[in-house]
Amino acid sequence: MDDSAYEKYKRAGKIAADARNYGVTLLKPGARLFDIATMIEKKITKNGAGLAFPVNIALNTLAAHYSPWYEDPLSLKKGDVVKLDVGAHFDGYIADTAVTVELETHLYDVMIHASDEALKKVIDVLTTHLPLSEAGKTIQNTITSFGYKPIENLMGHGVDRYELHSGISIPNVGNLGGKTTLHDGDVVAIEPFATNGAGHVIAGQGSNIYICKDSIKAKFIRDNKTKVLFEKIHTHFGTLPFAQRWCHELFPNDDVAMKKLSVLGVIQHYPQLLEAKGGIVTQKEHTVIVREDGCEVIT
Ligand code: MN
Ligand code: MN
Repeated sequence: MDDSAYEKYKRAGKIAADARNYGVTLLKPGARLFDIATMIEKKITKNGAGLAFPVNIALNTLAAHYSPWYEDPLSLKKGDVVKLDVGAHFDGYIADTAVTVELETHLYDVMIHASDEALKKVIDVLTTHLPLSEAGKTIQNTITSFGYKPIENLMGHGVDRYELHSGISIPNVGNLGGKTTLHDGDVVAIEPFATNGAGHVIAGQGSNIYICKDSIKAKFIRDNKTKVLFEKIHTHFGTLPFAQRWCHELFPNDDVAMKKLSVLGVIQHYPQLLEAKGGIVTQKEHTVIVREDGCEVIT
């Protein structure tokens, strides 16, 4: 990684971390998810970064993938276990970070601590020499030591320029990842999830989060309005995930065309990811730069 890329990652990391910390102050019973997400995203862009993905707010048994839709009436309530996941990019260099907060109750303090500790422990041992199965084992052992399960089918991931999920996966369990090791300068988002449920997630309804999928297929769209919308979306968001509510504001009156693009598979609608047995889920995430002798947290 050259100096310029490094500086841009650091800048994205600082802005993402500030946005996450600001977001935590907004998590109060009665607050609307739509307002929280909008305010955090404004903070990121005001600080000069781009949005690497829509702010995700996942409650209780929902592990990941929910962003409020336009004027979503859903509000937080006392006792909610809230996963707040935010991402910023500077010139395409992405930082991804998440935190869990339980609102005004303390039933899940230990579970929140378990995912926090798992992240801390794996950051302590991660170098370019550590097999990824060992990273997964560290996460798994830490979470199980508190009496919870890691979520085995959610993984950390490499990030690349304008690419939120590069090829690399950082497992949360020891039987995945094998002997693979990382390279000096690899940037990875590590995200242990803990649960009192089954330990895996299943796909649910739509998350209101989309990504451009197939621009070749887009050439064959017959209806002009739909075709034009795809070109606008593709130009605007490129390879990064985007929110239904952003499209609603940027391209009003195109909601029908947007549904068509999704049905055609030209844009992909991510599903919500629910704990399979309805367990509560906690998560903590940092983005790190991996080196020969350790790793540097940028968020
Ligand atoms: Mn994340
Ligand atoms: Mn992530």
